[in-house]
Order: sequence, then C-alpha cells, then structure tokens
Amino acid sequence: MWTNWAGNQRADTPIARPSSIADLQQAVAQPQTMRVLGAGHSFTPIVAGGDRILDLSGLDLPILGEATEGRVWVNANARLRDLSLALADRGLAFRNLGDINAQSLAGAVSTATHGTGRGLPCLAAEITAAKMVGANGDILSEDDISLEIAQVTLGMLGILIEAEISVVPKYNLRRQVQLSSVAESLVTMHQKWADNRNFEFFYIPFTGKTVELRHALTEAPESKAPRDLDMIAVKVLKLARSVGRVSEGLRAAILKLLTLAQSDEDYVGESWRVLCSDRRIQFKEMEYHLPPDVAGDVLQEVLTRLHRDHKDIYFPIEVRQTAGDTACLSPFQGGPRISIAIHTDASEDHQRYFEAIEPLFVEAGGRPHWGKMHNLTYKDLSALYPDFDRFCELREQLDPTGKFLTPALARLFRP
Ligand SMILES: Cc1cc2nc3c(=O)[nH]c(=O)nc-3n(C[C@H](O)[C@H](O)[C@H](O)COP(=O)(O)OP(=O)(O)OC[C@H]3O[C@@H](n4cnc5c(N)ncnc54)[C@H](O)[C@@H]3O)c2cc1C
Repeated sequence: MWTNWAGNQRADTPIARPSSIADLQQAVAQPQTMRVLGAGHSFTPIVAGGDRILDLSGLDLPILGEATEGRVWVNANARLRDLSLALADRGLAFRNLGDINAQSLAGAVSTATHGTGRGLPCLAAEITAAKMVGANGDILSEDDISLEIAQVTLGMLGILIEAEISVVPKYNLRRQVQLSSVAESLVTMHQKWADNRNFEFFYIPFTGKTVELRHALTEAPESKAPRDLDMIAVKVLKLARSVGRVSEGLRAAILKLLTLAQSDEDYVGESWRVLCSDRRIQFKEMEYHLPPDVAGDVLQEVLTRLHRDHKDIYFPIEVRQTAGDTACLSPFQGGPRISIAIHTDASEDHQRYFEAIEPLFVEAGGRPHWGKMHNLTYKDLSALYPDFDRFCELREQLDPTGKFLTPALARLFRP
C-alpha cells in the first residue's frame, strides 16, 4: 500500500520501478493508466488514482550531466537535497528553494513548488529544457517539448526524465529570525519583501505574534547551525491547545512563555542548508497564492475566523511571496503572488477549518498550490488561469486516451 507523506492519500495499485529509460518506455507503452510518483510529498490526489504508479527514483541516470554557462542538465527524478549536494560539488546552487528539499525535482516542478522572495520565481521557472517520455512511450523530440510541456503540468503531458535548469554560483546566506507582532508584520511586509532577498513570516495562533525570517547573501564565514527547534515549538503549541481545552488562561500563559523563549537568531550557512529544514511532524496543508495587494486583508480575515471559530488549531500560518512567471498552470503566471498556508495536524480533521477559510482565498482571486489541499473544479480553475483551456487542449492532444488522467484529475481538467 502506497501512502503520501501526510498519510491522507493512499493507493493499493502496483508500483513499477523501471531502472532504465527503455524499461520506462515499455511500462508507459502499456494501455493501463498510470501516475508518476516523486517523493510523495503532495497532499492532493495527484499520484494515486490510476491503474499503476511509476516510481522513477531508481532510473539509471547520472545525477548531473552536461553544463553550460549558468545551466546544467540534471536527473529530473533526483531529490532536491541530492541535487543541492551534487551542485555544490561543482560550485553551483539552486537560485532558491522551499522549506524542505525531500522532493524530487520533477515532483516539485510539476506542482510549482516555491520558496519565498519577491524577485525569486518558483522552481518550475528555472527549467530551460527537458527530456521527456510521452504518453505512448516514445521519447518526445526536442521540437515537441516547449517549456509549457515541462513546467507545472502535474505529470499530465509526459514524464520528465532529465531537465536543464538555470543555476547560480554556490552562495552563503545569513538567516535572521525575529519575533514581531502580526500588526507590525502586516504593515511592514511589503517593504520587507522589497528590502530582503528572502522574507517570510509565520503567525503563531492565539498569540498576536509572528516569527519573521530574513535571508541575505553574505560573504561571511559559515557559523554553527542553530538547533532546529521547530519540532519542539510545534509540540508546545499542541500542548497549549490541549491545556486550553480545560483553561483558556493556561493556554495563553504557555503561549506567552513560548513567544518569550523565541530568541533572535543569526546564522550563516550554505544556501540550501539555510533555506531548507526537516519537517518531522506530519500535517495537512492548504495554500493559496494571492494577488499581493489583497493578501494583507485576506490574512486579517483568516486570523479573525481562526480566533473566533477554530480554537483547536495550533499549527502556525505561513506567509511567503514568489516572483511571477509564464507557465500556463503556474499560480505565479502573470506576476508575483503572496502565499498564505494553513495547516492542521495530519491525524486530525482538517475539513471544518479548511472549508471555512478557503472561500476567503477564492473570493480574493487566489490560486491553489497544486500539491496542497483545495476543493476547486474545472469551472473555478478555468476562470483563474488565462491559458487554462489551452493547457487542457494540449493535454487532450498529447494524451488522447487519458493514460495520465484519473477521475480526480478529470474533475479539474475536463469541462
Ligand atoms: C513537509 C512538506 C513541506 C513542503 N514545503 C513546500 C514548500 O516550501 N513550498 C512548496 O511550494 N511546496 C511545499 N510542499 C509541497 C511539495 O513541494 C509539493 O507537493 C511537491 O509536488 C512534492 O514533490 P514530490 O517529489 O513529493 O512529488 P509528488 O507529490 O510525488 O508528485 C507531485 C506531482 O508531480 C508528478 N511527477 C512526479 N515525477 C514526475 C515526472 N518524472 N514527470 C512528470 N510528472 C512527475 C506527479 O505525478 C504528481 O502529479 C511541501 C510538502 C511537504 C509534505
């Protein structure tokens, strides 16, 4: 039985693990439907639901291939962490990364995985060329692969095997972490995105406080990595929630202690080590990408509803910004977006909270993260993306028998 990272998606279909491109082509040429697996870190039904799952983590390809000025060919099914290590060995690095690096590059690219930084696009925008296997098992020729076929496709147009990505010389980042108030973060966030290479903040539920993170390029030598206290903080938040069921006052006291214990942090390290961390406590997540001018008002309303109606929620709310790009299905197509992410414990009911907050995101013109939970359908999505119908036509053309399509995906990509 396959399950995703959060444990909310399952499949008991066979998993094929081709080890060569020829094996992969043969597997794809079979008539049954299939979905390709990355690292299983999506929360949505985009891997399960077909007759088979293809796991490409064992494909016999070098992790890095040919490099030209600022670009390098990579094994698209390698994990971001392994790619970061291999790039660093050649003096190179990803321009930006998200919170973790456990994903495969192909999985991350297919859902528009992003980090934060007003001038920094999502990972898919770093793809400059690709090698792919099409729905009939043939290798797609370079002429067939325009970038829109390789970027943000949820694996519905073909299977990525190698990708050429834009990279930068290896760099160090200084991370500064500070406690602030949510009122202050809301007033200053746009300026902070303008002033910092990477800026984001987490709102700690029921405290009025935020933790702001800034990253800047630096020539300073690496310092000792601080202890990763995220897991402890989330455990304390959960404890405060349980105590709050008995006494609101005690919950407030524990939360106060937690915010007082939050010390400012100043750490210098290699970019990917600073940007990414482990997330060891499982959660479920909904994230919408909003037009920057409305995001502040939306966040304020999210907090009002959280405080009023969802006392059981203890996971922080994460707020980031990503630069615009041009991919048909990229939530960042057409300009930068501010992303607001809400979470629940993986083992608890998410529905009441997510369903109460989602309309705020939707009414504000937000686009959902493709790998995170949402309840939109074809009708909603086609209104959100100017090129949505063109993408759907391309999908019909490249996969006319629906080999990569599942009922869950058909609800999103078929009228
Ligand atoms: C703890 C955690 C932290 C996260 N942090 C962030 C974050 O900071 N920023 C962010 O944007 N997202 C984040 N996410 C979401 C995550 O990055 C995305 O859901 C991403 O798609 C997961 O990548 P994966 O390799 O696990 O792919 P999977 O979830 O396995 O697959 C994702 C999609 O890619 C397709 N796919 C996989 N391989 C191929 C291939 N070779 N060719 C074609 N299609 C393929 C799959 O079929 C599927 O449609 C996080 C998720 C978790 C669980």
